[in-house]
Amino acid sequence: EGLGPTVTVGEILVEIMATTVGAGFLAPQPLVGPFASGAPAIFIDQVARFGGAAGIVAAVGADDFGTLNVERLRADGVDVSAIAVIPGKPTGSAFVRYRADGSRDFVYNIAHSAAGDTTMTNAARALIARAGHVHVMGSAFAIRGIGDLLLEAVASVRARGGSVSFDPNIRKELAQDGEGRKLVDDMLAVTDLLLPSGDELLVAAREATEEAAVERLLGLGIGEVVLKRGSAGSSHFSRDSGRIDCPAFAVEEIDPTGAGDCFGATYLTGRRAGLPPAHALLYANAAGACAVNRQGPMEGVSSRQALDQFIAAAGREVGA
Ligand code: ATP
Ligand code: MG
Repeated sequence: EGLGPTVTVGEILVEIMATTVGAGFLAPQPLVGPFASGAPAIFIDQVARFGGAAGIVAAVGADDFGTLNVERLRADGVDVSAIAVIPGKPTGSAFVRYRADGSRDFVYNIAHSAAGDTTMTNAARALIARAGHVHVMGSAFAIRGIGDLLLEAVASVRARGGSVSFDPNIRKELAQDGEGRKLVDDMLAVTDLLLPSGDELLVAAREATEEAAVERLLGLGIGEVVLKRGSAGSSHFSRDSGRIDCPAFAVEEIDPTGAGDCFGATYLTGRRAGLPPAHALLYANAAGACAVNRQGPMEGVSSRQALDQFIAAAGREVGA
């Protein structure tokens, strides 16, 4: 592994949440927020909180929503030098309300926000030139033209011996053939660590069973596949150690948004720090559990010390 920071690329948003369960936003209602958000932002904040060097290529507006996010990331130790401030565009936002069955209604402003103007600036090139690892978030594929930026970042880091992780976050509209699917395949060809959740494993591999999907992905040269299973925990697959399962920690699920990002960031950062897969996996499951236990997408990030305490309090250790 290179020694440079872990760098990710993509949307920074604020999230504003309904405080009541119900259907959508068709009537006035109580809301809470803004909370710092955006899958890549949550991921990179968790990398820094776990103790990893971290930076993000992103864009915000010249407004309070942008400042809230940038100052939060900076305070948590993320390199914010490659976050551009776009004049005349608002910071991205997402209004979210949970339905009784756990599904969510969203009102998004991302593609037409400052996040939609994420480009390869001089500051972005400078950060990427120092990076030891690139984490690619599939959610960022919604930003027009982001594919070229991601491929340049991946090529740059790999040319220096660095590594690449990929959370496909495959949305239904991207799962079919087309530009989004091509980018998924381009990324799978250069990924060292794949972090799918649920059916994304099958969609990414175009296979019908978990075993066949894992076999195909490892066959592409992906070193590690780590499957997120929500409240059922997670599994690690590799040629070296076969399959390693890790049960979830028992917690109350208050807000599931961000669990997968905190999980992936903690797994990756543990591995980059030299932990073996089973140990990084335990930390990652603890980070996911802590994330769902807190309201707000980025409010459930955890330091390594806090995770040590959480794991000990649960009476768990590696292999248990
Ligand atoms: P996101 O909803 O952020 O996209 P994801 O679907 O990528 O998340 P999940 O599988 O939902 O990822 O969550 C990641 C990890 O967090 C799980 O593998 C598990 O370890 C932990 N986790 C998620 N939900 C719960 C829960 N209800 N209880 C305990 N741990 C959980
Ligand atoms: Mg989930």
